[in-house]
Amino acid sequence: MELIRLRGIPAAPGIASGEAFVSARPAFSSRRETIPARRVKAEQARLARAIKLTRRQLALLRSKIRKEVGEEHAVIFDAHLLILGDRSLLASLDKIIVAERVRSEWALTQVNANYRRLFESLKDEYFRQRHLDISDVLSRIYKNLGRKRERRDASKRPKILVAHDLLPSEAAGLLGRGKTMGVALDMGGATSHTAILARSLSIPAVVGLHDITGKVKNGDQMIVDGTEGEIIINPPPAILKEYESKKVRYDGYQRELRSTARLSSQTLDGFRFRPMANIELPEEVSQALSLGAEGIGLFRSEFLYLRSASLPDEEEHYQIYSQLARAAYPAPVSIRTIDVGGEKALPKLHVEQEPNPALGLRAIRLSLKNPDVFRTQLRAILRASALGNVNLLIPMITEVEEVGEVKAMIEEVKGDLRSRRVKFDDKIPLGVMIEVPAAAAIADLLVKEVDFISIGTNDLIQYYLAVDRSNEFVAHLYKPLHPSVLRLLKFIIDKADGAGCRVAVCGEMAAEPLSGLVLLGLGLREFSMNPIFIPRIKKVLRSVERRFVQRIIGQALGLRTAQDVEEFVIEKILARHPRAFLLSGGE
Ligand code: PEP
Ligand code: MG
Repeated sequence: MELIRLRGIPAAPGIASGEAFVSARPAFSSRRETIPARRVKAEQARLARAIKLTRRQLALLRSKIRKEVGEEHAVIFDAHLLILGDRSLLASLDKIIVAERVRSEWALTQVNANYRRLFESLKDEYFRQRHLDISDVLSRIYKNLGRKRERRDASKRPKILVAHDLLPSEAAGLLGRGKTMGVALDMGGATSHTAILARSLSIPAVVGLHDITGKVKNGDQMIVDGTEGEIIINPPPAILKEYESKKVRYDGYQRELRSTARLSSQTLDGFRFRPMANIELPEEVSQALSLGAEGIGLFRSEFLYLRSASLPDEEEHYQIYSQLARAAYPAPVSIRTIDVGGEKALPKLHVEQEPNPALGLRAIRLSLKNPDVFRTQLRAILRASALGNVNLLIPMITEVEEVGEVKAMIEEVKGDLRSRRVKFDDKIPLGVMIEVPAAAAIADLLVKEVDFISIGTNDLIQYYLAVDRSNEFVAHLYKPLHPSVLRLLKFIIDKADGAGCRVAVCGEMAAEPLSGLVLLGLGLREFSMNPIFIPRIKKVLRSVERRFVQRIIGQALGLRTAQDVEEFVIEKILARHPRAFLLSGGE
């Protein structure tokens, strides 16, 4: 067996070594892969083969369903076969491959998006829904482009998951159940949801490998080095041994992190800070607590909406929230209501394609526009609050009126639960995320309306600086230590403190040693982050006096640039605590 080494993007640290499971699930592509002109004909032939296979599968399915379930259920496949026979649809696929010189995956993705736009503009709900049939057919063709036929892995043994790309919904399903020990993807970046999820679940992952699905077969032995971003297929014994010992070293490092996690969360001068966790699945709670989280500062409920074909019903919500609250009890959990829309599209809610999604109908705006969907989620969260440790958190608030609308809906749902004698926590704390600069500027008013606020610095900074940080052309301007950001954060934290309102930061900024110190100096107590970063932050904050850091940051607020702030703070901290940024006795 041939030894193959591949380099990709390290997405979740750690080493996994085991058997490959190649997932052939359909997932539309998120990247445009071009091909040389000489490969266009072969690409067209590849697509034609996938279409032929799709036709055979559909015909087979139709007769199987007709026999086993009945004619009325088989007609759907007639419709799918008709779609597959649509000349204009097939011609548009070919046209994209030839004109843009791209792989079939991208052509299918484009055609799917075009049809979605077309159907979404239709007034009639029934016809709008028909897009799902086209999408189903296109994704079946997509799946058939892969070399492997779909095969579900029946064995219990954890495997290394190899896939072209994973939708957030698929990632949640595949990674959350203890069946996956490592991940290797053709596509993706380090900040994709799959990467975040893999990190949270401590599953080593390498993404951006281009064509690993073409190089690995089910059952191949492979190593995933998520720290270095390397994949080794069919490793000989010597390499296996080398990686075994690497794994032992990595696990030792992890143990050291965990021992830091058990130390108390206080600065040298006795200030108690609170490390909290940002998570997306209830399964992450135990790991978060073992890494030192004192609660769940942000539960991103989006996964519930993204992982199934239909909108989750109240019971599905309730199962997840009560599982979450029980797992964390007595530590508090802040459940954030749905934060999709914009670029995190949710076809189930028929959000229009928007010209400027980042400024569009997302998060709480989407919830208030779909009151039934929102009520379902609120009812489930309130029911789970009967356990006693649940907080309700609302994303992307822009104005006081929205808080009023949310409160009115909460009251309405509470009234309904009361009349049905369903238990809930009548005093469930209500919090809002400060992510829009306008909300930051009225922090003094918002803190009077709610029990706590959580500053989402990821969004707040990108809106405040007008910098999309995933846009490589402007990413260099994304600066959490920009003096304007520090002033804004100081304003928010001071206003919250003045009103006796709890305030947390739940953006990436809370997880970085330097910006974590800056936040401490600005008066922050609650730091919510991806749990794997908690030991690191604890170590840093435990090595300094809060009063000293507050003095330094007071001076830093008068500096001119982000770089000046960075250099000044590092110099001052190191002059007094040379080991503040070191994790252990070494490095
Ligand atoms: C944020 O914007 O900082 C935040 C925590 O929310 P999300 O990353 O889920 O948008
Ligand atoms: Mg946000």
